[in-house]
Amino acid sequence: MRKPEPVGVTAGTPAGWSPADSSALYGIDAWGAGYYSINERGEVQVQVDQGENVVPVSLLDIVQGMRARHLDMPAVLRIRNVLDHRIAALNESFARAIAAGGYRNVYRGVFPIKVNQQCHVIEEIADYGRRYHHGFEAGSKAELIIALSQLRDTESLVVCNGYKDAEFIDLGLYARRMGYPVFFVLESLHELRVIIERSQALGIAPLIGVRMRSAVKVDGHWSQDSGDRSIFGLSTTALLQVAEELRAAGMLDCLQMLHCHLGSQVPNIRNVRSGVLEACQFYAGLVEAGAPMGYLDLGGGLAVDYEGASTNTTHSMNYQLDEYCVNIVETVQETLDPLAIAHPVLVSESGRATVAYSSMLLFNVLDVRDCMPGTIPATAPEGSTEFIAHLLEVLERVDADSYQECYNDALFYRDETRELFHRGQASLRDRALAEDICLAVMQRINRLLPQLERVPAELESLSEQLSDIYYGNFSLFQSLPDIWAIDQLFPIMPIHRLGEEPQREGILADLTCDCDGRIDKFTLPAGLSSTLPMHALNAGEDYYLGVFLVGAYQETLGDLHNLFGDTNVVNVSINPDGSYDFVREFHGDSIADVLSYVEYEPKHMQEQFRRVAEGAVRSGCISVEERQRILQAFRDSLQGYTYFEHH
Ligand SMILES: *Cc1c(COP(=O)(O)O)cnc(C)c1O
Repeated sequence: MRKPEPVGVTAGTPAGWSPADSSALYGIDAWGAGYYSINERGEVQVQVDQGENVVPVSLLDIVQGMRARHLDMPAVLRIRNVLDHRIAALNESFARAIAAGGYRNVYRGVFPIKVNQQCHVIEEIADYGRRYHHGFEAGSKAELIIALSQLRDTESLVVCNGYKDAEFIDLGLYARRMGYPVFFVLESLHELRVIIERSQALGIAPLIGVRMRSAVKVDGHWSQDSGDRSIFGLSTTALLQVAEELRAAGMLDCLQMLHCHLGSQVPNIRNVRSGVLEACQFYAGLVEAGAPMGYLDLGGGLAVDYEGASTNTTHSMNYQLDEYCVNIVETVQETLDPLAIAHPVLVSESGRATVAYSSMLLFNVLDVRDCMPGTIPATAPEGSTEFIAHLLEVLERVDADSYQECYNDALFYRDETRELFHRGQASLRDRALAEDICLAVMQRINRLLPQLERVPAELESLSEQLSDIYYGNFSLFQSLPDIWAIDQLFPIMPIHRLGEEPQREGILADLTCDCDGRIDKFTLPAGLSSTLPMHALNAGEDYYLGVFLVGAYQETLGDLHNLFGDTNVVNVSINPDGSYDFVREFHGDSIADVLSYVEYEPKHMQEQFRRVAEGAVRSGCISVEERQRILQAFRDSLQGYTYFEHH
């Protein structure tokens, strides 16, 4: 049962809470990067500035449109215009830096397919990216096949990283024969020998790149894997040996690219600069060794400011896109010009920064468990244990001077009551009352904490312990795996009711009955918080939350924990007049789908269940009509969504 009194915040909405207050509370203007904001109705809206007059669209409107089309929550919503805008921003920012610096070559971006392999995302990048000759980076045979299926123009690059077998190499060589610039980036010397052999056998000259091992240590999550300990790339000696072996095979002219990938989500521009500087020296060294070169691929790493904090911490970044491009262009010029080496084609493999912004996970809240105590009597009931009276006295006494003592006393009397209960000397009613009064004491203390100069360590997590639990209709493991795997932070907030002050503080729990299936770290402008401000649920009304910037890495890393399957997915394209089209809709996995992934045969399961029902008819438990109804319910469930469904 929910009660109206708020927990952890001052009671009552101060007059005049406005959507602007919500913007400040959730920091949407900082992490939203101009794509997301709050409208005057208190709803999150999406908007893409494409130089035309684009009218913003409310996410709640889109959700209602999805509902009307039987696309239930949870759902991934992708905004096509945002993806297009990201591709344009990356290419145009490099073009501006190149023009401004008088750089004498071009930029060619490639999208690393592993960051989001979904067909419609890849197709959109290929379609929209063509105007910039934006290509693809493939790290496996399957990804190479995706890249080859998108070949359109002979100026877009395909860069192949990862370990390559003869079959992989043959495919790349055939594309090369048809005139497409497909690069093999070497991970090992062994691979080089296979490439030489296959290219001689097929009579097709390859384009070869070498992946260097950077000694630059980068900040952020992948700090451990950077520098000398990197598991990727050729050692400096191996790099020189590649040039030697190619020369011996008469193929040194094929060595045209240097590849350097510092790691993903590099939050510090100084690391980027050092990495580029080092890469340029390697590039110059290979030119000196006689390789023609011509392409400098700086890999991924362009960060996303998930926190909107503009700092060089793991989930943020201390630079802007323009600054990133200018830094790269300038560093290459400054290093190569004195050596009189021609400017190479600049290549980058930005994945995260290209796709993160365009997707969000939307879900509804199913239930809230709050920590509200039941009704507390003014005096101890007749016949209750003496500890109840003591607890009531503690509750009376809580103030800013006595809170520490009250905290200890309340826990002591509660535990003593539990002891009595274990020995059969206190009733269930006594125990319930003791727990409720203790909780009320904790809440009073919690409300005092903001006034205190110093909060004792043992009380620091009190507000988290007393916070609500909002049960969301989603699976963390399926839809937000990085939160579980690498403590990734994503901006999370309600998508409506933002004209009202959110008076509750809660953590989020997902549908899996796993204690890891929770979110209890939120990035807010005020700092990292263990709880998220949310609104009390209104009876009979859905409450929707959005997890933003989830377009990178989340969609395929997810798993089937508790057999929650793929969610529904909707791709929306916004028109200049504010109308929008559902350009694609995908229904998520049915229960039969996920069962078949783990080798069940839904038909066979129906047959087994039919036998159970038939047995129940024979033994007189159910009628034949009931049997039909039960079997129908079983069949309907098999075809249904794996998440909580509205009926
Ligand atoms: C993962 C990866 C990328 C993508 O990195 P982002 O930081 O997402 O841009 C690029 N290149 C290589 C070689 C990668 O392994």
